[in-house]
Amino acid sequence: MKEVIKYRCKCKKQLQNQIKKKTEAIYLDNSSTSKMTVKSVQVLKKASEIYWGNANSKHHFGKKCNDMLNSCTNIIAESIRVKSEEIIYTSGATEGNNMLINNIPDLSSILTIESEHDSIINTLKKQTDRFTVDYIKINKDGTVNIYDLEKKIKTVNCTHVIIQIINSETGIIQNIKEISRVCHENGVLLFTDATQAIGHIDIDAEKLNIDFMTCSAHKFNGPKGIGFVYVKSGNDLRGFITGGHQQNGLRAGTIDIPSICAMTIALYESIINIKKNNTICLIYRKYILDRLKKYNNFHINGSLKQRLSNNLNFYIDNIEGEYIFNELDKRGIYVSQGSTCSIGYNEFSKTLLSMGCSKWVAENSIRMCFDPNINKMEEIKYVTDVLEEIIKNKN
Ligand code: PMP
Repeated sequence: MKEVIKYRCKCKKQLQNQIKKKTEAIYLDNSSTSKMTVKSVQVLKKASEIYWGNANSKHHFGKKCNDMLNSCTNIIAESIRVKSEEIIYTSGATEGNNMLINNIPDLSSILTIESEHDSIINTLKKQTDRFTVDYIKINKDGTVNIYDLEKKIKTVNCTHVIIQIINSETGIIQNIKEISRVCHENGVLLFTDATQAIGHIDIDAEKLNIDFMTCSAHKFNGPKGIGFVYVKSGNDLRGFITGGHQQNGLRAGTIDIPSICAMTIALYESIINIKKNNTICLIYRKYILDRLKKYNNFHINGSLKQRLSNNLNFYIDNIEGEYIFNELDKRGIYVSQGSTCSIGYNEFSKTLLSMGCSKWVAENSIRMCFDPNINKMEEIKYVTDVLEEIIKNKN
C-alpha cells in the first residue's frame, strides 16, 4: 500500500511538472519584441495619471508636462552622448527609418547592405526615382568588409551609407566605428539603424560620429509604439509630419509623454545592466552550445565573436525549421524561424542568404534570443533538453 501511495505521489508530481512546463511559456523571441520591465510598466501608469497634459499648452500644467518631457529627453540624449535637441521622438524604428529616408533632402546616392531591416530595404525600393541604391556584399560571418566598403564608396560615389549596428536575425555586430571612419574620410554621411543595439551595447553616437540613427523602445523592455531618431546638428532634414510646431516642426502631433517616460526608465535600466545582462546571456548561450556541439548536424550561422550575447541562430541538417519550431511551440517555447518580419509569409531569411547561406539554411534556421529580465537558467536547460530530444529522435 505504501508503495502504491508513493508511486501515485510520484506520478502526480511528474504530471504537475509537465503541466507546469506546458503552461509556463518560455519566451525566446526577445529581439522580435521584449517584455516591459516592472518599473517601465509602473512609470507608464504613474505618468499617465500625472503627466497626461499637452507639453505645448501654455498653462502651468502644460509647463509641468513639458518639464518632464525635457528631463526624459536629457536622460535619453545623455545615454547615447548626444545633445537633447538632436533627438526627435517617433512611434518606433519603422517610422524613424521611413521618415529619415523620405526627408533627408540631399540623399541622392545610397550604399547599403541587403541584410538591413525591411523598413530600410522596402522604403528604399519604393523611391527608385529619387536616388540610386547600391549594395555591398557582407562576409560569410555577417560582417561588412571595411576594405570592400571603402572601395565601393569610391566607385559608386555615394552621398550616404546606411548600415545597421546589429542585425536582428543573427545578432552580428558591425564595426560601426570603422564604417564611420571610412564614410567620413570619403565625405559620406552615415545613417545607422541602432534598434537592436541601444540598451544592449554601449553607444556613444558622438564618438562614433554617426549622422543619423534610429531606435525603438520595445527592443529594450520599454513600451511598443515609441522610439526616437538622432539627427546630428548641422545635418539637414525636412519636416517628417506637417501640422503644429511640436518637435521644432519636424514631427508634428501631441507628444506621448507617458510612453516617453516609460521608454526613458527602460533605457536607463537596460544601460546600467548592460554588463550584467551580457554576462548572463553568454552563460546561457555557452550552456546550449556546450551540450549540443557533440552533434555534428547542429550548426551556428555567422560569427560567434562579433555577435550580441543574447542571440543564437542555428540550423540542424535534415531537420526542417518548421518541425523544430512546432516541436518547441508545442512545449510553450517561443522562438522564430526564417526572417521575423516575414513570419507567416514563408520568406527565406535575406540576412542568411546575403551571408552566402543556402536557401535551405535560410528557410530552416531558428533564432533564439535571451532576455535575462525574463529568462532563467532552468528554462535554458529545459530548452536544451528539448533540442537534444529533437536531434536524437531524428538521427
Ligand atoms: N530595425 C530593426 C533592426 C529591427 O529589428 C526592427 C524591429 N524588428 C525595426 C527596425 C522596426 O522597429 P519597430 O518595431 O519599432 O518599428
